[in-house]
This record gives sequence, C-alpha cells and structure tokens, in this order.
Amino acid sequence: MTEHPLTSRAPIDVAVIGGGPAGLAAATALKEAGIGRVVVLEREPQAGGIPRHCGHPPFGMREFRRILRGPVYAARLVARAERAGVEIHTLTTVAGIRPGGNLLVALPEGLIELTARRVIYATGVRERPRSARLIAGARAGGILNTGALQSMVYLKNRRPFRRPVIIGSELVAFSAIMTSRHAGIRPVAMIEAAPRVTARWPAALYPRLAGVRLLTGTRLLEIRGDTRVTGVSVAGPDGQKREIACDGVVLSGQFTPEASLARLGHLALDPGTGGPVVDQWGRCSDPAFFATGNLLRPVETAGWSWAEGRRCGQWVAEDIAGRLPAPAAFLDVEIGDPRLKYVMPQRIALPQGAEGMAALQLRVTEPVRGELRALNESGILWRRKIHALPERRLLVPLAEIGLPDTAGTIRFEIGEARA
Ligand SMILES: Cc1cc2nc3c(=O)[nH]c(=O)nc-3n(C[C@H](O)[C@H](O)[C@H](O)COP(=O)(O)OP(=O)(O)OC[C@H]3O[C@@H](n4cnc5c(N)ncnc54)[C@H](O)[C@@H]3O)c2cc1C
Repeated sequence: MTEHPLTSRAPIDVAVIGGGPAGLAAATALKEAGIGRVVVLEREPQAGGIPRHCGHPPFGMREFRRILRGPVYAARLVARAERAGVEIHTLTTVAGIRPGGNLLVALPEGLIELTARRVIYATGVRERPRSARLIAGARAGGILNTGALQSMVYLKNRRPFRRPVIIGSELVAFSAIMTSRHAGIRPVAMIEAAPRVTARWPAALYPRLAGVRLLTGTRLLEIRGDTRVTGVSVAGPDGQKREIACDGVVLSGQFTPEASLARLGHLALDPGTGGPVVDQWGRCSDPAFFATGNLLRPVETAGWSWAEGRRCGQWVAEDIAGRLPAPAAFLDVEIGDPRLKYVMPQRIALPQGAEGMAALQLRVTEPVRGELRALNESGILWRRKIHALPERRLLVPLAEIGLPDTAGTIRFEIGEARA
C-alpha cells in the first residue's frame, strides 16, 4: 500500500464516492453543516459527473437560477464545493468497499486503503450497453451510448459517424440529437419500440424540427456491417422488416445504477432499482454507508440529483452529530405488481422521525391507467388514481399513507380505478 495525502492527513469524517452533481452537493452541504474533513473521490481527471460532457443546456435552474450548459454547470458545482472546503481527489477510483466505512482506492501511484466515519455512495447511472440489450448482428465500429458520443464530441472533438440512427426516445435521446447537431452529424432516424415517445411533450416535436425521422412502434432487429456499421434492420408497427442505411447506432437510455461496488461488496441491492437498498435517510444496509443521486434509481435530472445529494449531506451531518434516530425496526416497502418497476426507499426505519425523504418514488414498466394502492395485512392504507407512463416519476408522500409504527411490510399494487 502507498502513502498518500488522503491517508497521511487528519482522519476523514466523510468520504464521498463520485464527484457528480449529487456527490458534490452532499459534500458541500456537509461542510456547510460544520463537518471537519470531507473528501470527494472521483475516478475521472475532473469532477462534475455526466454534465461535464453534456455541452448543451438545460442545467442549473434549481441550483443557480439560470440555464447553463453542462460543462459550465459542472465547473460551478466544483468551485462551490472547493469554496466550502471540500477536498476533491480526481483520478481516484474506489475499487472496493468493506464494512464500517472502509474503502480500497486505486490511484495512479497504487492502491491505498482508507476509512471514513461515513461514506456517501454517489456513482450515478450508466446507459445499458449493447451486450446487455441482446441486439443481433454485426460487432461493427460505430455503436455507442449517448454518454460515449458526448464525451467524443465535447471532450475529444471527434466525430465517430455522420449518419447514425438513434435507438430510444427517453430525454437522453434528445441529447443525442443536440450533440449530433453540434458536431455536424445528421441522424437519419430516431427509433422507439413503444407506440409513443417516452420523453414528455414537447420533446416529441424536436426530432421533426431537427429533420430527424421519428419511427415509433418500431423495433431494432439487427445491426449490419463489417468493420463499420452500414445499416440496421427494423420491424415497423405492421411487423414488416425494413432496412435503414446508416453508419452508426446510438443506443440511448435504459439506465441502470452504477452499483458494481455494492454488488461486489457487502451492501444489499434492490432488484427493482438496481441500486442499493436504502431507508428514508438514504442509509444503506451498512449504516456507515449512505447513497444518493441517480444511483438510488434510474433516472432523474441533474437538478433533482443535486437536491437529493444536498439533503443526504445534511442527514449525514445529523447522523455524525448523533441526531438521526437509530433504527429500532424496519417497515419494508415492496412492489407486488409486474407493471410496477420499483419503489425507493425500500424500507422505512422506525421510529420514522420528522425528516428524511418526504415521498416514495415509483415507476411503471408500461402505460398504466388504474388505482395505485398501498396495502398491508390489514388492508388498503392509501389509494390514488393514476395515469402513468414509463420513465416518469410517481411520488407518494409518506405523510399521506399513514404508515404503521411497527415492523412489517407495505406493498404497492395497481387495481381497477373506482368510478
Ligand atoms: C447523455 C446525457 C445527457 C443528459 N442531459 C441532461 C440535461 O440536459 N439536463 C439535466 O438536468 N440532466 C441531464 N442528464 C442527467 C444528469 O446528467 C444526471 O441526472 C446527473 O449527472 C446525475 O448526477 P449524479 O451525481 O447522481 O451522477 P453522475 O453525474 O453520473 O456522477 C457520478 C460520478 O461518479 C463517478 N464514479 C463512478 N464510479 C466511481 C468509482 N468507483 N470511484 C470514483 N468515482 C466514481 C463518475 O465518474 C461520475 O463523475 C443527462 C444525462 C446523460 C447521460
């Protein structure tokens, strides 16, 4: 193990893994709350997270009351954290987590181990790669996720293709169009398997304004090409196979939390969100670890993740001061319907306390019209009519449910809406 300023200076009160909007906001809030030594551990050469390579707006309304491009926004978050006294260590990858706030950290100089009183885990999300999407066809060059496209265009000034197709229509697919336009790339089509665009209106108008064909109800069957992509085969709403000539494919969206550390370590994971199991304070199954930002669930905007990070920093400061109630028992929160994708937090620590996350976050797997219900063994505790679409957040205020104050399970289901 190598000697390094991270370990040779004063003991670390809080180590934040990941210097994106959530991690930087948490670290800044901790310093503002008077916590001594707060370090951010970031694997990239600069902190700032995904916005660093999103050279387009809109970022920053919630945090700076103005609309900024991603890199400007990221730089402002870093400057604010540094002004507050946060130590930011870049090129610093957390390679392992162990019980009690112990971390294995990979540096250019070698591996070190460090222990912090608390760890905030804020490693964000990634788009599902090609291998996990089970797409048939060529392993040709020119197949990228949006994040990789952005980093090539905005950070490396490269143009990986000229006429790609964009797969998916979550908000991030519109970033792919904006990024392409910036680089002089002209996408030939945006392809969405569902009958309608996933992102909220008026995003659906944007492909048309940008001169990109929008093909909904259309599935990608196969990528063709040899060393380079030459086209894709798709099936339209009528089931007919069609060929589209293109020289690249952007696989957008289908985010999953970047939770490898939890998976390889000791923290409980939730199969619904793909992130760590947390309580209403963001506290993981090991109470030395808290999680925040998009790692909690795919996927929210930078402003939302920043606000979550900020609150998490405040709760960790409370915890260090001994003011967070120690859990005496847990109320588990579950989903009991295949049309529900996840619920977060997955458990409520009892006694509940006045603070903590104000609402449960849920999402659906398909368009749903019906009644969302929270039940326990005594019957229905809460119900609300919903008309929900995939990738749109549903918030259920905890105060509305009237949660029991003894250990047990709350289950969410979808039923027929009453007339
Ligand atoms: C292509 C794209 C375009 C987007 N456009 C917009 C937009 O226009 N407006 C908007 O509001 N939002 C946008 N978003 C969403 C926004 O970027 C995220 O909501 C936000 O970045 C989430 O913040 P975070 O801190 O949770 O995660 P991230 O920003 O992902 O930060 C996580 C950080 O953790 C680091 N990390 C991961 N693992 C380790 C490790 N083991 N050790 C050390 N460091 C690690 C990563 O390098 C990264 O810096 C976009 C997202 C994408 C992918």
